[in-house]
Formats: sequence, structure tokens, C-alpha cells
Amino acid sequence: MARIRVLVTGGAGFIGSHLCDRLVEAGADVLCLDNFLTGSKKNVEHLFGKPNFELLRHDVVEPILLEPDRIYNLACPSAPVHYRKNAVKTVKTNVMGAIHMLGMAKRTKARLLQASASEVYGSPPADAGPIAESYRGRVNPIGLRACYNEGKRVAETLVRDYRIQNRVDARIARIFNTFGPRMAPDDGRVVSTFIVAALKGEPLAVHGDGSQKRSFCYVSDMVEGLLRLMEAPAPEGPVNMGNPGEVSILQLAEMIIALSGSKSEIRFAPLPGEDTPGRRPDISLARELLSWEPGVGLEEGLKRTIAWFQDNGLDDC
Ligand code: NAD
Ligand code: UDP
Repeated sequence: MARIRVLVTGGAGFIGSHLCDRLVEAGADVLCLDNFLTGSKKNVEHLFGKPNFELLRHDVVEPILLEPDRIYNLACPSAPVHYRKNAVKTVKTNVMGAIHMLGMAKRTKARLLQASASEVYGSPPADAGPIAESYRGRVNPIGLRACYNEGKRVAETLVRDYRIQNRVDARIARIFNTFGPRMAPDDGRVVSTFIVAALKGEPLAVHGDGSQKRSFCYVSDMVEGLLRLMEAPAPEGPVNMGNPGEVSILQLAEMIIALSGSKSEIRFAPLPGEDTPGRRPDISLARELLSWEPGVGLEEGLKRTIAWFQDNGLDDC
């Protein structure tokens, strides 16, 4: 039987490279497509030489003809420092990338999974509690994060419209904060930034008073959820994917210092504009449709991530 052909756009990035690992291991023919804007060949070089892995430098903003059976459309800078620096490109990547990949899925009858983000919810009120897919969001179309938030919202709209108008078999994963090995050390995201600072013995800069909360999902759990969502019958609407556990940023800083045996101190810094007080997923739908929930706790995930940064991740800092 022919091997299933899987296209992973953004495959040389953090989540994409772990997804490529799982797909290669499962025996799929994997084509990893990336323009290396924020990802790196280093993230997938261990797969070079495998007969079922190929790497293609390409920008999803440009059209391309390929014949996959599955398309994971992950291409998009996901860290605020990266997408703010490349704001117009981020909108184009989300919109043109979704159009080209959905068009490809229409032509080849491939299944498609669109990586969306919890940022489509914008900044919910502090007392909103866990966010379900039915929440419409509170997004500023001209705000600091708009290129990313609105880009993801349009990509979701395109998925909906290609489903209805062209019967494309597409689904949407609304991904919440994810962490693990291969996060870029300079991406400004809180887990990587704190770990790098702790390992270097430098102060950890907690924004505001650190009472804002986040929910962090370990990358292997996220990849398992994405694989299940791709293989399940496509739900009509988006599916939240994340870890519903919650931690304050101050607690996170304390945990990372303790787990890395660091002598770093905590310093408080101003809260950046549009920082959201909390963002926690309600994953009832994923539990029901995919029998999926995260299994790696925050402490265990942090230990693995710290170990990876100790072995690999400080080279570029
Ligand atoms: P990442 O930046 O590590 O990976 C994104 C990859 O896409 C990179 O390899 C980058 O080079 C590539 N890319 C960017 N623009 C491209 C373009 N125009 N053409 C081709 N390739 C391009 O980010 P990540 O954390 O791995 O995120 C993967 C996906 O998951 C993204 O769509 C992101 O929005 C989504 N997501 C991630 C998180 C998270 O916490 N990591 C949270 C919500 C959503
Ligand atoms: N944060 C922080 N120090 C840092 C980086 C981030 O206190 O060095 C805070 C940030 O202000 C936010 C939280 O950690 O409140 C999560 O930030 P991140 O950029 O990782 O994700 P997002 O805000 O998109 O959820």
C-alpha cells in the first residue's frame, strides 16, 4: 500500500519539527516545508537521510503545486517578538498561506489541519474562566498583536468558507501556549526566556506583579492532539488544544529557578501593552471528540525542557 504523504508547513519550527518526528516515526512520507523565518534546519537535521523525510525551502505566501494526502498548515511566526517585527508578512502568511493550502486541499482532496491560536480570543476579561470555543473573542484589529490575532481569525474564516463552498475536509486547532525542547532561545516567550536566564544565572524579568496566569501544554501532548484531530472526522468548528492547568507567571519563575538549581533572582519589569490577565482553555470538546487530554504535567515538562536547553539550547544566546 502507498505510504500516506503528509505536508507540514512550518515543519522546521518548534511544534512542526516535533510533528515531523512523530509522522516520520509512524512511517508517513513527510514533506517539511519552511522558509526558515523563525524555524531552523537544526530542528529537523536529525531526520536528514531518512527515506521518508524531505525538506523544502518555500514561502507559503507563494503558490506551489504538491500532491499530499494530509496538510498540516502550521507556517506562521508565533512569538510576539517575531510577528511584531514581521507584521505585514505575518498577515500575508496567515491569509495567503491558508488560501494556498486550502486550494491545494481542494484540488487534491487532501485533509487539512489549520493551526489557529488562543489569540483569536484576544484579551478576555480577567474573570472569564476557562475559554470555550463558543467565546467570540475581544480582539483589537489595530492593536499590537493584531497582525497575528486577526491573521489567525481570517485563516479560520477561510477554513469555514472552503468547507462550505468547496467541501474541503478541513479542521481548526486553536492552540494555547505550548512549550518544550526546540523553542527558540531568543523568542521572548516566557518559558524559554526564563529558562535561558536561569541557566545563565541572570535575573528573571517578571512582567507586572506576575499575577497574570497562563496554561502551558507540553509539546508532545500538543502533537498527539493535532494528530488525533487530523484523523478524526472534521468537527464543524474549531477545537481548543492546550493544558487546562493554570499557573501565575511569578509561580512559573519560581518553579524554573528551583528546577534548574539556579541562583538567579526575580526582578519585576513593566507589563507590556495588551498583556492578557489570563488565558486558560476549556478542552471539553477535544476530550469528547478526540479522547485527548494532556498527560505531561508542568513540572515534568519543565524538567525535560530545562535539560534540553542545558544540552543544546544556549548556543545562540
Ligand atoms: P515557530 O515560529 O517555531 O514555527 C513556525 C514555522 O513557520 C517556522 O519554522 C517558520 O520559519 C515557518 N514560517 C513562518 N512563516 C512562513 C512562511 N511564510 N512560509 C513558510 N514557512 C513559514 O512557531 P510554533 O510555536 O512552532 O508555532 C507553530 C504554529 O502553531 C503556528 O501557526 C502558531 O501560530 C501556532 N501556535 C503556536 C503556539 C505556541 O505556544 N507555540 C500557540 C498558539 C498557536
Ligand atoms: N512574560 C514575563 N517575562 C518575560 C516574558 C514574558 O513576565 O520575560 C510574561 C508576559 O508578559 C505574559 C506571560 O509571561 O504575561 C506569557 O508571555 P508569552 O509571551 O510567553 O505568551 P502570551 O502572552 O502570548 O501568552
